[in-house]
Parts: sequence; structure tokens; C-alpha cells
Amino acid sequence: DSFDSMGLQENLLRGIYAYGFEKPSAIQQRGIVPFCKGLDVIQQAQSGTGKTATFCSGILQQLDYGVTQCQALVLAPTRELAQQIEKVMRALGDYLGVKVHACVGGTSVREDQRILQSGVHVVVGTPGRVFDMLRRQSLRPDHIKMFVLDEADEMLSRGFKDQIYDIFQLLPGKIQVGVFSATMPPEALEITRKFMNKPVRILV
Ligand code: AMP
Repeated sequence: DSFDSMGLQENLLRGIYAYGFEKPSAIQQRGIVPFCKGLDVIQQAQSGTGKTATFCSGILQQLDYGVTQCQALVLAPTRELAQQIEKVMRALGDYLGVKVHACVGGTSVREDQRILQSGVHVVVGTPGRVFDMLRRQSLRPDHIKMFVLDEADEMLSRGFKDQIYDIFQLLPGKIQVGVFSATMPPEALEITRKFMNKPVRILV
């Protein structure tokens, strides 16, 4: 299998190859196409399997680049991981002109507000700062159509459950949800039952 056979936009393929990927990993082979179709997907996979590029490609393929509004929100358990995802998203989406911003704690709230106001397509962040930006209406949820929880089990074990639920409440009702998690503890299953619609399950 190859990235070429997935029906991806030319400029996304260019970004993938320029980043240095030649062949899709197992999770990418199974996960990118359903995500690009707009389906809800649960992917049970460890880090190191290529999950980041799976959801980044799915998001980049579906964005409307003519609209500089946040259309995809990715939550991650740590600042470092959120910033790493931001970099991968920016690199893979380089030829598409994607605008990505990482909203994480420990950085200037003012600067976050300024960048969000200037217009982005994708926000990647930790639950606390993202919720803060939504609450202040610096991040407008109206155009968000894709929502990804990366390392969902890790976010739950760090006590982010309430903030994840609070964020869900502020997002539009009809939204594509992707959940990536190495394990599926009861709290993670509860999230999939409450917020996902007929999810496709992929175990790698
Ligand atoms: P992840 O599971 O997303 O943290 O990715 C783990 C590592 O695998 C990262 O260093 C990626 O750059 C690398 N990687 C992901 N997908 C591919 C691929 N298709 N070909 C080569 N390396 C990859």
C-alpha cells in the first residue's frame, strides 16, 4: 500500500513525502481513509506507530483553506506533545498553507489571543488552555467540525476528564470525533459512548 492510493490532495502528498515518509505505517494504512471520509474513529495504538500523521493527514485533507476559522481541534495531555503535533501538522500541511496554533499552558494568554484572532485553521492544545480560550471567546467553536483526543487514556489519568467534557459542551453538535488511545479504560469508553457516532474501531 502507498500514500498515493488514499485519494489525498496533491499538496498533502507533497507535504508527506517532503517530510520524509515513503510508505504508510500500519495505523496510517488503516486509519487515514476512514478519517478522511469524515467517520468517527477510535484507534487503539501506542505512540511510535505513526498515529500523529494519521490524524494530521485526515484533518489536513478535509480543511476548507478558504475559510480562516478554526475547523479542527486536537487535545493532547502535555504541552510538549501538543507542540510536537503542531510541528507535524504544519510540516505536512506546508504546501496547503495550513495555519496551526498550539494553545498550551505556561505561555502568554495575550499572545494566544492575538494569534487566534489573526485566524487559524487548526488548534492543538492541552485541555486547560483550550478551555480557557473557548471560555474567553478567543477561540470560536462555530466552525469546528473535527475533534481529536490524542492519548485519551493519558489525558484522563491526568485528571482532564471534566475539562474534556466542558470542551465538548461548547463544540457544535455534529462534529467528527477521533479518539487515539493506547489503552481503553472505562472512562475512555464512556467518552466514546457519549460523544461518538457509530465509531470505526482500529486496533494496531
Ligand atoms: P507517532 O506514533 O505519531 O508518535 O510517530 C512515531 C515516529 O514514527 C515519528 O518519529 C514519526 O516521524 C515516524 N513515522 C510516522 N509515520 C511514518 C512513516 N509513514 N514512515 C516513516 N516514519 C514514520
